[in-house]
Amino acid sequence: MKNLLGGKGANLAEMNLIGVPVPPGFTITTEVCTEYNQLGSGKAVDLLTPEVEAAIKQIEQIMEMKFGSNENPLLLSVRSGARASMPGMMDTVLNLGMNDAAVKGLVEKTGNERFVWDSYRRFVQMFGDVVLGMKPTSKEDADPFEEIIDGLKEEKGVELDTDLGVDELKELVGRFKKAVKEKTGKDFPADPWEQLWGSVMAIFDSWNNERANVYRRLNKIPDEWGTAVNVQAMVFGNMGDDSATGVAFTRDAGTGENLFNGEYLINAQGEDVVAGTRTPQQISKTGSLRWAELANVSEKERAGNYPSLEETMPAIYNELFDIQEKLENHYLDMQDLEFTIQKGKLWLLQTRNGKRTGAAMIKISMDLLREGKIDEKTAILRNEPIKLDELLHPVFDLKAIDQAHVLAKGLPASPGAATGQIVFFADEAEKWAEDGKQVILVRIETSPEDLAGMNAARGILTARGGMTSHAAVVARGMGKCCISGAGSMLVDYRKRSFTVDGKTFNEGDWISLNGSTGEVYEGKIQTIDPELSGDFGSLMEMADTHSRMYVRTNADSPHDAAIARGFGARGIGLCRTEHMFFEGERIKAMREMILAGNETGRRKALDKLLPIQRSDFEGIFEAMHDLPVTVRLLDPPLHEFVPHEDENQKEMAREMGVSVEEIKAKVEALSEFNPMLGHRGCRLGITYPEITEMQARAIIEAALNLKKRGVTAIPEIMIPLIGTSEEFILQEKIVRSTAAKVFEEKGDTIEYLVGTMIEIPRAALTAAKIAESAEFFSFGTNDLTQMGFGYSRDDAGTFLPIYIEKGILKNDPFQVLDREGIGQLVEMATTGGRKTNPNLKIGICGEHGGEPSSVEFCHMVGMDYVSCSPYRVPIARLAAAQAVIKN
Ligand code: PEP
Ligand code: MG
Repeated sequence: MKNLLGGKGANLAEMNLIGVPVPPGFTITTEVCTEYNQLGSGKAVDLLTPEVEAAIKQIEQIMEMKFGSNENPLLLSVRSGARASMPGMMDTVLNLGMNDAAVKGLVEKTGNERFVWDSYRRFVQMFGDVVLGMKPTSKEDADPFEEIIDGLKEEKGVELDTDLGVDELKELVGRFKKAVKEKTGKDFPADPWEQLWGSVMAIFDSWNNERANVYRRLNKIPDEWGTAVNVQAMVFGNMGDDSATGVAFTRDAGTGENLFNGEYLINAQGEDVVAGTRTPQQISKTGSLRWAELANVSEKERAGNYPSLEETMPAIYNELFDIQEKLENHYLDMQDLEFTIQKGKLWLLQTRNGKRTGAAMIKISMDLLREGKIDEKTAILRNEPIKLDELLHPVFDLKAIDQAHVLAKGLPASPGAATGQIVFFADEAEKWAEDGKQVILVRIETSPEDLAGMNAARGILTARGGMTSHAAVVARGMGKCCISGAGSMLVDYRKRSFTVDGKTFNEGDWISLNGSTGEVYEGKIQTIDPELSGDFGSLMEMADTHSRMYVRTNADSPHDAAIARGFGARGIGLCRTEHMFFEGERIKAMREMILAGNETGRRKALDKLLPIQRSDFEGIFEAMHDLPVTVRLLDPPLHEFVPHEDENQKEMAREMGVSVEEIKAKVEALSEFNPMLGHRGCRLGITYPEITEMQARAIIEAALNLKKRGVTAIPEIMIPLIGTSEEFILQEKIVRSTAAKVFEEKGDTIEYLVGTMIEIPRAALTAAKIAESAEFFSFGTNDLTQMGFGYSRDDAGTFLPIYIEKGILKNDPFQVLDREGIGQLVEMATTGGRKTNPNLKIGICGEHGGEPSSVEFCHMVGMDYVSCSPYRVPIARLAAAQAVIKN
């Protein structure tokens, strides 16, 4: 149903079926949006007219009102609603059907002149913005309608919108219409049908607006889906003090706590709550007391000016409480609701599975499991692997926090720690981030236009807005640290600064946010690594009991190995030995080997490298004791180890005691047209067997040394970049004969394996033959993708984004494994390898090993494990369990 009606439409229909009060209405399906995009508006209106006319008649009958009547006019709300929720990205028009005649009729009917004129001015404003394109022209400019409102308020000497009387509202409608005429050259449309069709088409168009496109790209929502349009009878939260509007969550979207919460405003329409222009009140008394404490509001002020719904309208609160319980039990997930109270009657306008932070995602799924509402498999599937990333980021060091200075306090809108430089505009946040800077986006309030900038920022800070403001909701969805409503900050966009308590902070200054407490700190604050514990730990253990594959890590230092082990890695899937050659004395010995003109010279230099490598391996094997460690022999082209700049070449000459010319000549000799396809990988070990010998010796000696100390090392020696079985056989022979020699010298042995990477297409094609001698395969899908597509890993950045934009590729194949093409090579090599060697151990160590959809594919082809960077180990563990449950 969601595919056709969109999320909002489907849930409205379902709420109606289970007896939740929703205003009568109908939904124009997502298919119509697609047709509209293909056929244009004329054709779409022709197709829709008979059905829409009939549906409006039905609403008229239920509401006992008439669309377009002057005496008893039916007003409509027209809202977008895609398959997947895209909060605030597309458009909405409320109070549709208003015109000068309807206003008269409504005033007579309701006797509430202020309400009617307020609804009228809101309609002109929304329709002007959404349908007639009356928007700010530059980022520093205010909204054209808000500018008119501010102008009038100043003339009349009033502060709040609510202080505007009937005459002022009438004046506003007049000024709005005049502005429309000036800008568009046409009168504001009075005909309700013209208004309706204009709005429906504008909402279809909003599917393709900039911010919706950005949101779709960020959330991988296909462009073809289109949006549905929901048309419903209006209900009003602005009919006086017995009316209100609000949003609520069945559980806490930031922490996951099982606590019904939300915000509302008396005598207001929906957009007032999220716009951040008035301070919203809390729904429950508990929530209200907590809010007051955080916002530093006294109990007297809270009870007097900001009482909870539970206190102001207890009967309605109870009804809403029962409905939220009913909805959560129906959908078996945390719900995000919108409601309106019209003259003491409660209406639900929307329900959907609420956006939540990574921490809340885990807690809610584990709580629902404990409450017996969902089973283990559902609980595992409820957790989005990528969102675990939020919990793996550093948190503030408590000692550093103690000494930091709090400059302001706001609401803890989305938890986490963030440190960065102040930036005031979303597009600049993006630019700064592209330049490698850490930024905090500071705004008075955010709007959907700011999406890309919010995504680029480390954290978001707003001066206005509550826990359900745009900034708060979007930040939680992104898992980004956010503090909203830090009211003591005075932001000046033109000066690019904000002031608190007389102190000014400028663009570029460093601040830190603690999104869990709402505290804003001056300067940078030290962070520390997080750990797996509580529900996170339990979820991971539960995931492991459902998976078939296990997870290793790519690590080349004891520190990284220890982090990964803490995250549940069960071995190392790739230790890149070249990274060990760069520090201090090592690089000198390495360069000496490269410079040597013959084998004797090379062996002399390798003798210096041997003890260094051995002790590195001892450290790594010890950190991974009792677990397998795949060590890859030297892989990169030798030119990567020699300096290319004059200055550094001179220094090297001095250190090596040779002439600069000699160095230059060697560097020249090592240069290749296409180093990635040149003298690298096993080709190095084949031309210089003594390198393979030294590395094999270092590995075996390290393992034997540990054995003496009672530590078990399980090395798996991996030959890189094999294209033919002969290459493998030659290298394997060197490794095995070296090991045998060491065993004899030391009078002891250890278990070890020799295997290879599958990263050249020819190796995948001839895998059956290679597996006759190899004991394991590890897919190097970085190189396999590079060579399979013919895209250079280092140069693809210039064209890949355009390929994705044009739809040639759905994803970056270096991030998400290309199942259709490269996947065939992987599958073929797995099947081929197992045919000749049924015991062949198979894993993956390319970047794809930590990406959920690629992990699923690895499961499907029957790999034994995936290996990824330490911080992605929990993500891969969850993805491995989901792969089993989904397939
Ligand atoms: C690979 O090619 O996938 C791989 C893991 O090796 P590297 O990235 O070191 O080339
Ligand atoms: Mg490789």
